[in-house]
Amino acid sequence: MKIIKNTGKICEKCGSQNMKTHQTTYPLKLGPKQLNVERVSVKECMDCHTLKPTKAGEEKIARCAMTFMSLF
Ligand SMILES: [Zn+2]
Repeated sequence: MKIIKNTGKICEKCGSQNMKTHQTTYPLKLGPKQLNVERVSVKECMDCHTLKPTKAGEEKIARCAMTFMSLF
């Protein structure tokens, strides 16, 4: 049996490989506040609807978080 290591395409929650990449508004939690980051590239599990940002998505979230934090 061959185990294919491709964690980027497998859902962390349910192990499904039915992941679809698209852009969506990602709810980012910063302590008690929630920031909705628009048009983030994410992989969504079609089975349990877990959102996992792609590398580009994570970078965008990080940038938004920095901007958001600098406002306070
Ligand atoms: Zn899943």
